[in-house]
Amino acid sequence: MRVFVSEAFPKRIPRILYRRFFEKIMDLSKKGIRKERVQLESTAPRMGKRFGVSLLRVLMYLLIATATSGICLAAGSYQGMIDNAPDITDASISPLGYASFVYDSSGNQIQKLSSVEGNRVSMDIKNIPENMQHAIVAIEDSRFYDHNGVDPHGMIRAFAVMLSSNFAESEGASTITQQLLKNNVFTEWMYESRIQRIKRKIQEQYLAVQLEKSLKDSGQNPKDVVLENYLNTVNFGSGAYGIQTAAQTYFGKDAKALTLSECAVLAAIPQNPSKFNPKLYPEKNAQRMKTVLDYMLTQGYISPESYKDALNDNVYARIQEKESAVVNDTEVYSYFIDELINQVKHDLMTQKGYTEDQATNAIYNSGLRIYSTEDSSIQKIMEDEFSKAENFPAGTEVNLDWALTVDKKDGTRVNYSREMLQQYYQENLNPDFNLYFGSPDEAQLYINDYKSHVVEPDDTVVAERTDFTPQPQACMTVIDQKNGHVVGIIGGRGKKTGSLTLNRATGAYRQPGSTFKIPSTYGPALDQGVVTLGTPENSKDTTYKDGIEQGTGELDPGTMTVREAIVQSNNVIAIKVIQAITPATGFEYLSKLGFSSLVADPAYDESESLALGGITNGVNDLELTACYAAIANGGTYIRPVFYTKVTDNKGNVILENNTMAKQVFKPGTAWLLTNAMQDVVSKGTGTGFQLDSDIPVAGKTGTGDSDVDLQFVGYTPYYTAGIWAGYDSNKELSEECRGYIHTLWTSVMNRIHAGLDMKSFQKPDNIVQATICNKSGLLAGNGCEAVNEYFEKSSIPSDTCVQHKPTPAPQPSISPEEKDKEKEKEKEKEKEEENNSQQPDPENDEGLFDYPEDASGE
Ligand SMILES: [Zn+2]
Repeated sequence: MRVFVSEAFPKRIPRILYRRFFEKIMDLSKKGIRKERVQLESTAPRMGKRFGVSLLRVLMYLLIATATSGICLAAGSYQGMIDNAPDITDASISPLGYASFVYDSSGNQIQKLSSVEGNRVSMDIKNIPENMQHAIVAIEDSRFYDHNGVDPHGMIRAFAVMLSSNFAESEGASTITQQLLKNNVFTEWMYESRIQRIKRKIQEQYLAVQLEKSLKDSGQNPKDVVLENYLNTVNFGSGAYGIQTAAQTYFGKDAKALTLSECAVLAAIPQNPSKFNPKLYPEKNAQRMKTVLDYMLTQGYISPESYKDALNDNVYARIQEKESAVVNDTEVYSYFIDELINQVKHDLMTQKGYTEDQATNAIYNSGLRIYSTEDSSIQKIMEDEFSKAENFPAGTEVNLDWALTVDKKDGTRVNYSREMLQQYYQENLNPDFNLYFGSPDEAQLYINDYKSHVVEPDDTVVAERTDFTPQPQACMTVIDQKNGHVVGIIGGRGKKTGSLTLNRATGAYRQPGSTFKIPSTYGPALDQGVVTLGTPENSKDTTYKDGIEQGTGELDPGTMTVREAIVQSNNVIAIKVIQAITPATGFEYLSKLGFSSLVADPAYDESESLALGGITNGVNDLELTACYAAIANGGTYIRPVFYTKVTDNKGNVILENNTMAKQVFKPGTAWLLTNAMQDVVSKGTGTGFQLDSDIPVAGKTGTGDSDVDLQFVGYTPYYTAGIWAGYDSNKELSEECRGYIHTLWTSVMNRIHAGLDMKSFQKPDNIVQATICNKSGLLAGNGCEAVNEYFEKSSIPSDTCVQHKPTPAPQPSISPEEKDKEKEKEKEKEKEEENNSQQPDPENDEGLFDYPEDASGE
């Protein structure tokens, strides 16, 4: 193959070798070969005169020998490449088959995924002006109507360029048929290695011939079919793929109404859509447009008069005027679809070894079928509730995001940001100036005023972006805990204005606050038998190893059981319990529960503050919800699932989501936590999250530092739902507007559970009830403040309390046989309690209220 290296070498030998080589596998047209031969004979003598003949002959023999052996070797691998070439069918050259589709959990198609390329509008060749067809043929492939898919003349040139550039360059001289195949069959050509490029080139040539042959055999006009698909496929710059979109983008008209000059402008683009973009670089395009017209004239497609008229037409002025009319009607995806795309992309990269570009291309252009876990009715309920203004605090503010780019009259370009605007007003107006405004109009006044200070009369504003995000915000995730399927997710309130915008449920990391007490502290402590729900703890005299400031003087409810500490969300006892299990153990459990943002270091998150959810990076709503879904699922954690299966357009499975489940808590631990967290909702810090139906709810509230982040994760026997509420930037939520977290969570969950059958949390067999002393945690004696508590059989206290007199006779009631009796007793007691107890302030998460004593025996 080295014979092609030197341009100066007589062309006879390479041509002959070349022809033998390709004749074997290609049906070169007789006409083409004849033409080549004529050229060979005419050029050879001239070359011979220029170079020494004998030297030439020696070189020739050497090269023939080398080339022949090379070709023998190559022929074998060549056949392999041909055998491995993709199938050519009529459909596969069509550009419209590449959008991907997403289905919901019921199998309904819910989203078409396509890039700008997928927004092509197909045009029949009959509706594409002949001038357009001829213009593209003239400039891209002048022998298009003569060759049979490959152009030997152009191929030799291409090979020579490729070899002389050490395979760095390979393009140029591809026929329109080859280019079509490159765009629609070999869709990964952007990512190929040099070897892959050679292989692809050879397959491309082979297929180009096969394609035209098969079209002809099926009675179609191969040139019309190829040209139609080509013009519907090709990139015309400015995000315009296909001739119809291009005609609309640049001229605001249908393709069939294009004039000759307009056709020439468009035909000038595809070779390099950014360089010859007529909007951005009219001069460059104009040069090539003239070449197009020159070629059209010399190839006999247009008359000299039309040529002159076209050149005199000031077509670029029309293009500039059209600029603002370009429509961007790209569909905005839901938050669920956004995250689904992220997940599929991630899995294609980690499981299939795709690069990010390849994964993106596969998702938008390769016709994937993505079977998602979305429950469309649930997703719709969430979107509906999050769009209702009445579910959010009155007097909604807006948070300003703004940027400005200005070309100063001295030629420099200056960018202005929201931070600079804020700083300006902090220095000149008010040191506390922030970017929250009562309305977009109010914000605009400040923008205008700032602009009048920074933009001078002769400056040019190049770009300005203004976004108003309603505040405060919220996000929510709903998971079916049985299988870990995310059935609905919403990343913010207000109209979603773009795809892949900030999804607060997955992209915002917030302090989980007291919601972390369960997975980091009480869960592990119960699981390891360090405490029971009945273990009494004293909230006094706790020392903090890592120096967390706690107002122990204020919160001094004295001794309470672990259950009470959970219900009241007591901070001091949580710290005591994590000290007992060690922060390292707590951290280990959290890691198993899927938290990805924790920092494994005793100086950071492997510390006591883990108990209170004060962590380095915060957690996102999705991961927090998945953690609670594990508790709801009997202690088995399942990594959140957004899809079950991804196939190609022929149904071959590309990705399969095999549920990764692992038991983190014992089923007994999970049930005990659930039971205690039912109390949180029925009488503790979570009373604002009770549902309309009798379906039980368990959950835990959380408040991050300084009331900036409100959290709640709650679950029923059906679904687990986590919600966050707060401002995007760390602004405190005022007392009176915090209730919207209840409104949103309950309105979504009430609608999700409407019509579902009553169901209870399933109690494992090894959970039994015992009556214990509220102060000592031992089995209740006669004079004790007695409460009923659930235990794992193995952790029931063995001794009876004797501290509280009188103690005539200990009456433990622990046998499982008496369970039913106990249950009834307990029910009665609960009723009594409910009547006696006043409801604590649901906003108060940190144990700052007086929790009613279970009994007042003393
Ligand atoms: Zn006692």
